[in-house]
Amino acid sequence: MDEDSHPENADVVIVGGGVIGCAAARLLATDHDVVVVERGQLAAEATALAAGEVTITPSYTDYPEVGTHALEFFLEYDGTGQFHYEARESVEIVPTARIGEAQRRSERLASEGYDVEFLDADEVESRFSGLDLEDGFDGGVRHTETGFVDPYTFATTLAADATERGATFLTETDVTEILVEDDVVVGVDTDAGRIDAPTVIVAAGWRTSLFLDDITPIPVRPYRTQCIVLDLDTDVGDDFPMGWIPGEHVYFRPELNGDLLVGGWSFATDDPVGASGNADEAFIQHVADLAPRFLADGDTARFVNGWAGVDGATPDTRPIIDAPADAPDGLVVATGFHGRGIMTAPVAATLVRSIVTGEATDLPREPFAIDRFESRSRDFRFVSISSGDESYEDD
Ligand SMILES: Cc1cc2nc3c(=O)[nH]c(=O)nc-3n(C[C@H](O)[C@H](O)[C@H](O)COP(=O)(O)OP(=O)(O)OC[C@H]3O[C@@H](n4cnc5c(N)ncnc54)[C@H](O)[C@@H]3O)c2cc1C
Repeated sequence: MDEDSHPENADVVIVGGGVIGCAAARLLATDHDVVVVERGQLAAEATALAAGEVTITPSYTDYPEVGTHALEFFLEYDGTGQFHYEARESVEIVPTARIGEAQRRSERLASEGYDVEFLDADEVESRFSGLDLEDGFDGGVRHTETGFVDPYTFATTLAADATERGATFLTETDVTEILVEDDVVVGVDTDAGRIDAPTVIVAAGWRTSLFLDDITPIPVRPYRTQCIVLDLDTDVGDDFPMGWIPGEHVYFRPELNGDLLVGGWSFATDDPVGASGNADEAFIQHVADLAPRFLADGDTARFVNGWAGVDGATPDTRPIIDAPADAPDGLVVATGFHGRGIMTAPVAATLVRSIVTGEATDLPREPFAIDRFESRSRDFRFVSISSGDESYEDD
């Protein structure tokens, strides 16, 4: 096909060129004619704004194969093009009131085979010189199967691979409609013309539920989440862990240049398009107050920059990767990644491929199936994944 021409047909059309669309395209392009249609630039929305944390093993301890699948992918993909996976331990900082629960949970996870251990405050500080727990923090849970990536490089490397395998990426092209005949998908309409295809994968981020409103209800609502970067007097080094603080709505990870990224502070929003792209002053102040309570150099933390982005939330914080039974044949949905789309992309790609081809996979389908929800309403209570057991109410 001529590079400049608009394709008239494909085996698979993917709506959305974020990390999920790119990852799915890469796996399908080996033996399908794939066209990815992106309304803006590739990986320029939630994907570009992500912190890039890969904490999928602790997030899916009820489905260990999910974490294992993703982690194996990241380790193997490390070194592809410019992509790098930085393996780093994580420390969940434990407030005094939660010590007993954290100890019991650590013991249970260790007995299930996870490399997880409870550390008291002295052990946290002697193992990680950059951490200094004070004022209500009394221990940590150490997880080893975690790490981070640069999300934009990750997505564009996946897209480059997909292109090499024959996929076509159309940017600045809006999919305006899914074309359905006799309850079967026959293609899409775009603002640059129609593309015939028997399979359409909608990986349109938080927009997916609005986009599919007339076809099938998707319980995904937009929420806004934020990151700030701190410069500390002493650069964070190779032994500085990633981590999170339940109840404080923050997580953190080192930057490879010695700065510290702190993310979190997430709220549902009814105005995803108009939502500010800057970090809230309240979040910056919260982190300024918190930093001296867990960082050895917390008093010296200087704000470097901050931003906010919008992702799609589901009622139980896990994504929807499925071909909904009430939707036309040929429609696949991969959305609602709820703050974990970067780390879940390898899993999503494998599941999407399995749904499209019918090939078996060792991954479970049920945690991602849409029929796990009794209601498909978008009017559900938003749960922040950085909140620990508590959660923020909707704004
Ligand atoms: C501040 C922040 C921090 C985060 N930190 C992490 C983290 O540390 N680890 C992690 O795993 N995840 C993190 N996330 C979440 C992660 O970024 C998302 O879950 C992930 O990027 C979702 O990918 P996606 O492809 O589904 O969506 P997106 O990246 O939003 O891509 C969807 C694409 O679809 C396009 N599109 C929509 N409608 C149409 C249409 N009609 N036609 C054509 N194109 C369309 C959009 O333009 C967009 O490019 C974070 C998110 C934010 C905002």
